[in-house]
Amino acid sequence: MQKVGITALVPPELVYLTGNVPVDLNNFVPYTEYYPRHKLCAWTAIWRDIVISRRIVEKVIVVAGGDCHNSLVDGQKIEMHGVPAHYFFYPFDGSEKLLAEECGKLVEFLGGARCPDAFKFVDEVKRAGKKIDGLRSIGRVAAKHAFEFMIKLSDLGGSPENMLKMAKAVEEAELSHLPRVALLGVPPIYRDFHEVAEKSGLHIVFDELPFEFLRLGGLDFSEVVRSYATYTFARPLAYRMDFLKQELARRKIDGIIHYTQYACHHVLEDDVLRRELPYPFLTVQGDLPGTTPAQIRLRLEAFAEMLGMR
Ligand code: SF4
Repeated sequence: MQKVGITALVPPELVYLTGNVPVDLNNFVPYTEYYPRHKLCAWTAIWRDIVISRRIVEKVIVVAGGDCHNSLVDGQKIEMHGVPAHYFFYPFDGSEKLLAEECGKLVEFLGGARCPDAFKFVDEVKRAGKKIDGLRSIGRVAAKHAFEFMIKLSDLGGSPENMLKMAKAVEEAELSHLPRVALLGVPPIYRDFHEVAEKSGLHIVFDELPFEFLRLGGLDFSEVVRSYATYTFARPLAYRMDFLKQELARRKIDGIIHYTQYACHHVLEDDVLRRELPYPFLTVQGDLPGTTPAQIRLRLEAFAEMLGMR
């Protein structure tokens, strides 16, 4: 069993299937106080330096086509420092045939299928996540708790057993009186963002990327391929917009917060989201990890006040 770093969403079902443990390298970043020297986006630069200097994983899966383009370069830098890397590509057109080939190569790189129970236990954790997400959507679980659970669905926090315990420990809350907002884009690099939003008077009822991690229906290899072929962040913008329009209407949101990361290509999507999604809209941008800056706190409070007056 080896620890396998993943730079973005890779089906955890397949990594566990090979008897290895996925480690989502992004999940370290908000908790660091480290400022990398050579960087565009802080996320990729920080996990690159952590893996090179601390060797926290034995191998890396670099998602090289799909949701993040900066990863391709920083992933190669890791490989140049002697950590074996495999490059995983999501087909832009959602081709299941191509994705099946990619998934097959991934399983082969990790040593082949050895743990057929993986599909079942990953599914069990994801179903717990779906329940938490549903409760958060109706204001009965704080966004902070739902986010903390769902962001771990990319790697199951390295322990499906702990995730099930964590699901049982999620406390109920009563937040249905607050304006309902969707948080779109990549997750904020500020570790307390959801807590700050709630203190500012907003209930985040939808986290776009963590919700993508939830994708269910992966009880065998073919089902996993079918499910991940619809990963919206790896597909054309029009595909993602169609999904968002339906999901945001279903969640009856009052407004949108679009989090953008400095030097991330997803910044360029802001005008498309504003044009396509007809809701009050707030764009915030972060760069380095830490706690939410005062200026963003003030903007969240003003947004909450504005939504509360409608
Ligand atoms: S914020 Fe953008 S550039 Fe940075 S890791 Fe995420 S997708 Fe890649």
